[in-house]
Amino acid sequence: MALSGVEIFKMLPKTNCKKCGHPTCLAFAMKLAQRQVSIEECPDVSEEAKKILSEAAAPPIRPVVLGVGDKAVKMGEETVLFRHDKKFLNPCAFALEIKDTESENDINKKVEAVVNSEIDRIGQKLRIDAILIQNSSNDSGRFESVVKLVSTKAPQVPLILSTTDPSTAEAALKVVADKRPLLYGANESNAEAMANVAKTYKVALGVYAKGLEALSALTEKIKGLGVEDIVIDSGARKAKEIIQDNTLIRRAAIKKNFRPLGYPIINFMQRDDAMVEALMTVLGITKYASIIVISNVDRWKNLATFTLRQNIYTDPQVPMQVEQKIYKIGEPTPESPLLITTNFSLTYFIVSGEIENSKVPSRLAVMDTEGLSVLTSWAAGKFTAGKIAQFIKDSGIENEINHRELIIPGYVALLSGSIEEKLPGWKITVGPREANGIPVFLRSRAQ
Ligand code: SF4
Repeated sequence: MALSGVEIFKMLPKTNCKKCGHPTCLAFAMKLAQRQVSIEECPDVSEEAKKILSEAAAPPIRPVVLGVGDKAVKMGEETVLFRHDKKFLNPCAFALEIKDTESENDINKKVEAVVNSEIDRIGQKLRIDAILIQNSSNDSGRFESVVKLVSTKAPQVPLILSTTDPSTAEAALKVVADKRPLLYGANESNAEAMANVAKTYKVALGVYAKGLEALSALTEKIKGLGVEDIVIDSGARKAKEIIQDNTLIRRAAIKKNFRPLGYPIINFMQRDDAMVEALMTVLGITKYASIIVISNVDRWKNLATFTLRQNIYTDPQVPMQVEQKIYKIGEPTPESPLLITTNFSLTYFIVSGEIENSKVPSRLAVMDTEGLSVLTSWAAGKFTAGKIAQFIKDSGIENEINHRELIIPGYVALLSGSIEEKLPGWKITVGPREANGIPVFLRSRAQ
């Protein structure tokens, strides 16, 4: 159970020594109750209290990592039910299913589609994160050879090995254990043997039981067998069941700190109809899935689900922003145009994209407006003539360019006169109101 600040306080030394950086033990206890600090920051706490407090302070959903290196996927560690309370931390992973009964040609095509699925959106790399290899053949040798093939073709893509046969699992893990795959397929009848394999090869174990009661009993059993990193599957496959089970699991973990269900969830969303599969994926993204298994990676579907996932996993209380600086687009010379906009990510990426489309090498001055768009920041007094003039002076751009012309967004045309007053010697030109007018605007000037 989560402990209250007062309960934690009772276990602290109560000397108010400030070594933890807090003025009193009570202040530290309150922070600890909110999981904003670690008990390790108090050097004088007893070992017994440390053990109790560390267990109580562990995140209600255990963090589990799938894969290694840059493309490893971290799951779990969530602390809230709703994203307006606090940011959702670890975006769910999309895993494409490959059956070991498929032909080598089909497998190669699917692996290639996963490897090439990456897109860049608002500065973030979005992709299909993993491949689940399904032991449909029930043939250990075939499964092992497909695991080998996939891991050779896509050495950086995290893998999920799906089999209920412990010896098949072991044979495949001998090949790829160092890539830290997830072994999925433990159930009530094979729990001991699968737990032993997972322990031996130090991989996380995916656990299946029909219904939440059976699932909690099974995770407790597997934990008792020494496996800590667990991913859970309640057997829900229909939309209604998935919403219901995922919500109950998340509520039990977050609200009740119910450890037997405090693990990342894997949902199987494969459908023959790609549109239905996309809708099922949307359910998983919005309702607490950590791994969503899918059967195809059509580009239209990826674009929709990547975008939704990115939006759900951004902090709704913090506007997305980019660094304040002068960005070079193309290879600008000292004569190239200089434009200015705000540092709201979406504004920056749309404006810079349209400048790129114009094929006119330019400089884009991006001013820190705390992530607000042009009109909002102007209305909030963060994108004013005085602040723009100061930013241009401080940026040092006058040493880089031979002209003194600044192109401002059309939406703040009324600032042009006052910026000219505050930036003596500069000419302020009003650019288009909408970013899609930039290519024509820049090209017409270049002629
Ligand atoms: Fe209290 Fe420990 Fe912080 Fe000292 S370091 S003030 S004993 S919580």
